[in-house]
Amino acid sequence: MTFAREILCPRCHNRFSLSQLLNLCSCGSPLLVRYDLTKAATALSKTTLSGRTPTLWRYRELLPLEDDANLVSLGEGFTPLLEAKNLAREFGMQRLWIKDEAQNPTGSFKDRGLSLAVSRAKELGVKKVAIPSAGNAGGSLAAYAARAGIEAYVFMPKDTPAANQIEARQYGALVTLVDGLINDCGRIIAEKKVAEGWFDVSTLKEPYRVEGKKTMGYEIAEQLNWTLPDVIIYPTGGGTGLIGMWKAFNEMAELGWIGSKRPRMVSVQASGCAPIVQAFNDGKDTAEPWQNAKTVASGLRVPQAVADFLMLQALRESKGTALSVSDDEMLAEIPRVGRTEGIFFCPEGAACIAALRRLMRQGWVNPNDDVLIFNTASGLKYLDVIRDNLVNK
Ligand SMILES: *Cc1c(COP(=O)(O)O)cnc(C)c1O
Ligand SMILES: [Zn+2]
Repeated sequence: MTFAREILCPRCHNRFSLSQLLNLCSCGSPLLVRYDLTKAATALSKTTLSGRTPTLWRYRELLPLEDDANLVSLGEGFTPLLEAKNLAREFGMQRLWIKDEAQNPTGSFKDRGLSLAVSRAKELGVKKVAIPSAGNAGGSLAAYAARAGIEAYVFMPKDTPAANQIEARQYGALVTLVDGLINDCGRIIAEKKVAEGWFDVSTLKEPYRVEGKKTMGYEIAEQLNWTLPDVIIYPTGGGTGLIGMWKAFNEMAELGWIGSKRPRMVSVQASGCAPIVQAFNDGKDTAEPWQNAKTVASGLRVPQAVADFLMLQALRESKGTALSVSDDEMLAEIPRVGRTEGIFFCPEGAACIAALRRLMRQGWVNPNDDVLIFNTASGLKYLDVIRDNLVNK
């Protein structure tokens, strides 16, 4: 069962029923699921979680699925939280955690959101789903749709890493390569979806993916025995993770599972595509579309995000910050963390390490801060990108 009660627009406060299949609010804002947390707090305690399944579905009552018969799972979530003692020592800091999202079913944390989105799509009778993807989301949607018996249509830039294109096709999706960026892919879907009968699962243009991503926040708290780190560094594209974790922290506080302390949230972007960093530094509430976006971190190649204002709000509320790092900085960190910790980072995850290095140097992160960084996907999904850079250097 679920304590989900309704779906709410954070901008105009319009309310919707759970039984409706939803995309954006009529005002253009993303929509968010709201729970009856008072009821949940009496029915559910954090100690009851301990014996549950080691997937994100252990937080079942706090996810917006009505009937278990519609649950589409490949074992996503509850990924290891690894202490990085060697890297911490090298950086001269007390404690560093790596949340290793590479250990999800298709090798990236996109599985969290797409397990939820496909489960809800199945529950509400959807037969065809479509997604614009900068990389990992396409393969992930293809896998979950295959398992649910739903047709998947994936639109990705033609220079997306090979693994993403190949896996999506192997899971039976219809893949269209586009001469453009993720926003161009999104535009094609928007134009065709009514005629084709597609449900559009673009990042934050439906309210379910962010619910899957919020479980990263629940897991961090549970794995740290219901405390939170001082700083969380997160590679930001469309923003589901940042917004989802921030939502999770507020929900857990209302449930009485954690106190009022919040981590300072840090958004990392690539210097070739950094709209949120720019808006944060300019003191703006929304971001300008980024021109000529270019980076090897395909998950960060998002020139414009519909939920920009929610990301900026979370960064400011948390007293966090935003910064960008170059592709060379990211790529240089991959073999360093590989050698010191035995984890093959993706460029997006490596961007967090480069950011941490700079924030330590600037004194924004103190040596006694507990810091948590994300490895959002496996380096194995970027072999062509990494090889090309080895050849060129
Ligand atoms: C999609 C993606 C990101 C960005 O995630 P958001 O939550 O959409 O901001 C970061 N890293 C990787 C590997 C991704 O695939
Ligand atoms: Zn609205």
